[in-house]
Amino acid sequence: MAQILNGNDISKEIIEQLITDTAAFKAENGFVPGLAVVLVGEDPASKVYVGRKEKACQDIGFYSEKHKLSEETTQEELLAIIDQLNKNEKIHGILVQLPLPKHIDDTAVISTIAPEKDVDGFTPVNVGNMVIGDDCFLPCTPHGVMVMLRKTGIEISGKNAVVIGRSNIVGKPAAMLLLEKSATVTICHSRTKDLPAVVKEADIVVAAVGRPEMVKGDWIKPGAVVIDVGINRTEDGRLVGDCEYESCEKVAGWITPVPGGVGPMTIGMLMVNTLEGAKRTLKK
Ligand code: NDP
Repeated sequence: MAQILNGNDISKEIIEQLITDTAAFKAENGFVPGLAVVLVGEDPASKVYVGRKEKACQDIGFYSEKHKLSEETTQEELLAIIDQLNKNEKIHGILVQLPLPKHIDDTAVISTIAPEKDVDGFTPVNVGNMVIGDDCFLPCTPHGVMVMLRKTGIEISGKNAVVIGRSNIVGKPAAMLLLEKSATVTICHSRTKDLPAVVKEADIVVAAVGRPEMVKGDWIKPGAVVIDVGINRTEDGRLVGDCEYESCEKVAGWITPVPGGVGPMTIGMLMVNTLEGAKRTLKK
């Protein structure tokens, strides 16, 4: 039976530390870190995530503002709002909740965010700095995965890591961060041949696919670490990951639950980046 990698507990510790650090920051510098969240359209999951991010800001003592825009918002209107936020001194972090409506070009929007306020770590400047191992904002979900592994004392160096998924926001950066910590990394995707056999070689599996319960227990090497990034709603209304929890936990050494695994870590890391964004304004 696998041990649980409890994202709720680890992120709670992170938030508590941030409450203390933010109070100290405010006392020393006379202003609070500020996060702007931009939400376009009515995607129900996005609304839930934005609500959680706002609540975390309140709990920590950050300034936060939400820009809720209609589904019909044009790309030009959205870019103009980001431009204003780039110039707004109260804002140290800008987050544009994805996915955006189909008529808006994600890349153009992300590239407009000032790199020094890009707390999601998605702009080309931050992605490039991450790849060369330079100082930057790391993308929140993969960074959360790495913090979870570190705080649990799970060794990465020399391990075989298999990342399933190659998206810009999870799969690719997760692979880069594991590589940075000296794992031997394999990246899988929809064209990968015999995925179960590749996964079977992994000491660490990161599943970021978006397919409910796709990874089965008999794909997992006994004792492996299973990090399930997926969040999927099944037809019968259950919230499940990309790994079949019941079968995987019987074989794995460690496993993240869904919910309560990677999800809360993502929010924790967003908050860490927002405080960091405010600190960086002092170094100018
Ligand atoms: P994307 O849809 O952008 O990427 C999915 C990836 O999975 C693609 O690279 C795709 O391959 C690959 N894939 C799809 N089907 C298969 C298959 N049958 N076999 C192997 N690989 C496959 O998703 P995201 O990376 O944005 O998100 C992945 C999951 O993580 C989702 O469930 C999402 O909700 C969740 N998520 C959770 C977060 C959290 O905080 N916990 C944050 C962000 C996402 P190809 O490139 O070839 O198409």
